[in-house]
Amino acid sequence: MSIGPREIGAAVGVLAAGDLSRYSSRGPSRTTRLEREMTSWFGVEHALAVNSGTSALICALVGAGIGPGDEVLVPAYTWVSTAAAALAVGAVPVLVEVDESLTMDPIHLAERLTPSSRAVIPVHMINLVCDMDAIMALAQDRQLVVIEDACQAIGVRYHGRPVGSIGHIGAFSFNQHKNLKSGEGGAVLTNDRRVFERASMYHDVGSYEREEFASDEPLFVGVNLRMPELCAAVLRPQLRRLQALIDKLRTHREIVVEALSSSAYSCRLGPHNDPDDAVGLVITFDDPEEASRFGQNRGARRLLDTGRHVYTNWQSIAARRTAHAALDPYAWAARPIEFDEHSCPRTLDILGRTCTVELAPEIPTPAFRLLARRMVR
Ligand SMILES: *Cc1c(COP(=O)(O)O)cnc(C)c1O
Repeated sequence: MSIGPREIGAAVGVLAAGDLSRYSSRGPSRTTRLEREMTSWFGVEHALAVNSGTSALICALVGAGIGPGDEVLVPAYTWVSTAAAALAVGAVPVLVEVDESLTMDPIHLAERLTPSSRAVIPVHMINLVCDMDAIMALAQDRQLVVIEDACQAIGVRYHGRPVGSIGHIGAFSFNQHKNLKSGEGGAVLTNDRRVFERASMYHDVGSYEREEFASDEPLFVGVNLRMPELCAAVLRPQLRRLQALIDKLRTHREIVVEALSSSAYSCRLGPHNDPDDAVGLVITFDDPEEASRFGQNRGARRLLDTGRHVYTNWQSIAARRTAHAALDPYAWAARPIEFDEHSCPRTLDILGRTCTVELAPEIPTPAFRLLARRMVR
């Protein structure tokens, strides 16, 4: 999403009023308004704005009561934050392979479950969608909490429902690279009042208004993960343009798909969990060398080469280094959890043969059409 006059106006409005935090605002703050607007856009009961996607995942886990001794299933292809969030609450991440849709393989997920499995975090990578029907069915069967990491797919739908609103809890990021951006920022979505109240308490060590809370959940200590008013102000006008952004991404995707049909590369469109409503684009090759060559094109990239989105590059997690030696979630786990570069060979094979291209919504569509042809030639 590009930052334009509406975002600049909104930011100036906050600065001119001098109300930089949600509690200094007279009347409903920008943050409160953003939360209300998100509940209606995404069709959920509760939304909590926080200061990052990582914070949103941590608040979601805390909200669901996940902690030491618990295992949290995460895909081997995701930004490192998904796994780090589990460790931040004292739980351990357990890696699950992705399939060719580039999202968590529900069959491998079922194989990785143990009596200590408490939560699963399916991640909707690069505007793709997970196989939520299979994951929700399994979760119901095995009593798992489902936290959707929708940080990279805000506004995308799965069978008609926005991602982030399908699981028990959803997490968004509004960092510089996401569909909606405020530099840093995030949000937690849920229909579960207790989860919402626990997440709210945790994200705010002490300023919130208790009377907003209806349940009998006792007050516990939190930290400060609050969203600044400037961030909320610049996100609100973007939220109003979110559908237009998604529509444009979809149009640009179609253009690339069409260009690929006459490409010299021997590649095919990867499988998608909701092909009729696809926004994210997966290009699969048989030969990793050819994928690597394609990935050198401007605007294209091979997914294996995207740094800490691949579990083999999560050095601090593989080394089990936490801020203090005694704060060791692995020591609190019910069993030894193995994790090294060989843990998910299928994920590495798939990422080595898969590329995506930037759908560049900031570029006018006629210009993008020319670019796309050049990109896949
Ligand atoms: C960006 C991202 C996060 C974390 O978001 P931050 O706002 O950078 O903390 C988590 N998960 C995924 C999949 C992401 O892409």
